[in-house]
Amino acid sequence: MFKKILIANRGEIAVRIIRACREMDIMSVAICSEADKDALHAQLADETVCIGPAPAKDSYLDMERVVGAAMAVGADAIHPGFGFLSENSKFVRMCEKCNITFIGPSAEIIDKMGNKSEARKTMIDAGVPVVPGTKDAVYEAEKGKEIADQMGYPVMIKASAGGGGKGMRVCNSSEEFEHTFETAKLEAENAFGDGTMYIEKYIVDPRHIEFQILADKFGNVIHLGERDCSIQRRHQKLIEESPSPAIDEELREKMGAVAVKAAKAAGYYSAGTIEFLKDKSGDFYFIEMNTRIQVEHPVTEWVTGIDLIREQIRIAAGQPLTYVQDDVQVKGHAIEVRINAEDTEHDFRPSPGTVTSVHFPGGKGVRIDSALFAGYQIPPYYDSMVAKLIVYDKNRQLALRKLRNALGELVLEGIKTNIDYQYEIINDPDFVAGNVDTGFIERFQKAREEISEVE
Ligand code: ADP
Repeated sequence: MFKKILIANRGEIAVRIIRACREMDIMSVAICSEADKDALHAQLADETVCIGPAPAKDSYLDMERVVGAAMAVGADAIHPGFGFLSENSKFVRMCEKCNITFIGPSAEIIDKMGNKSEARKTMIDAGVPVVPGTKDAVYEAEKGKEIADQMGYPVMIKASAGGGGKGMRVCNSSEEFEHTFETAKLEAENAFGDGTMYIEKYIVDPRHIEFQILADKFGNVIHLGERDCSIQRRHQKLIEESPSPAIDEELREKMGAVAVKAAKAAGYYSAGTIEFLKDKSGDFYFIEMNTRIQVEHPVTEWVTGIDLIREQIRIAAGQPLTYVQDDVQVKGHAIEVRINAEDTEHDFRPSPGTVTSVHFPGGKGVRIDSALFAGYQIPPYYDSMVAKLIVYDKNRQLALRKLRNALGELVLEGIKTNIDYQYEIINDPDFVAGNVDTGFIERFQKAREEISEVE
């Protein structure tokens, strides 16, 4: 097992990993930017190295500084968390060269699955259902338009390097194709330095269903059931739950088997996620694989009782999986709500600043993953997610009751947050009925704006 892990991340996920290290008797090393010297992860780790100025590109995204810090402190592994360098194959190669284990899959797997059009190809060849669309990448609007015209509108134009909802646009007609393509491409070039695109049929109001995978370096692959992440704003998840109200045991087995097949086709190891869209007729299609731990991993941990970070570390250290498929039982119901420092009344713009007081709910079946504390100054440089509230109970109805209480009790003062907004969502009759799809938030937001206009 590793002796010392450097955590190449910040915020709640860095804290989550530091805690796991401590439980496993592994020394933890935090890295921080100059803006994060007082941050919780920098205070909690056994050692902390300040690696550069506030902007992420000069600190958390600076590969040489990160690997340099790991070498300086004698870390034998790096956990990348999510975002930042977690899906960067160049970084993985750099770690390998320096004899540091990257806690995640190999650079080759990341190249294969991180590039979304490449991943589509791998899945098509493996016989995994994908959203109808192009098999090869598309570089020019003219060529793309030809394909889209043939396919029929609406279509989704997507960046191969995409992530976090960036570089993705719906296109409704031939007339608007060129403009939409160029806009998405420009966004992709700016965000990822890569304007390679591909085109998919636009699935109208699907559910986003993803399967958690665990795979070791010996070819053992299991799935840990699904998460329903249909509550999204601009393709970014807001609420996630497991199990999905739309999946029964039979479908779970079927989709789970496809997810395992997909991971095997990629030669995958580590924790990973296979994402699907499920349409109204019940058909489901692979959209992408995430080759890292995800924000929403706690809901799966709760319904399966499996610690995903611990497993991820064990797999990286070359140990076989602790579980076989039959050990995995999905029990009860878990829901996660993302708490963001943002102004929901002004286009969700980030609201950094000093958190003057914090009250977290607690009790049986309530989990908070957060790096916040009273007096903490949220810096403006990074992601606006500041906490995750996760609840667990015997069934969805009870979990929802618990969520209502816990969210109602949560207090963060000094900054604007989406707590009230989330409270409205979880009390929406459609959400309560489990009757949701990826178009939910758009409808919800529209209804909300109409009411405020009347008022
Ligand atoms: P990212 O990697 O940027 O998160 P994904 O490919 O995972 O992008 O898609 C994110 C979300 O965008 C999905 O959960 C879904 O809501 C929407 N989406 C993606 N592809 C399609 C599609 N072909 N049709 C309809 N919605 C889609």
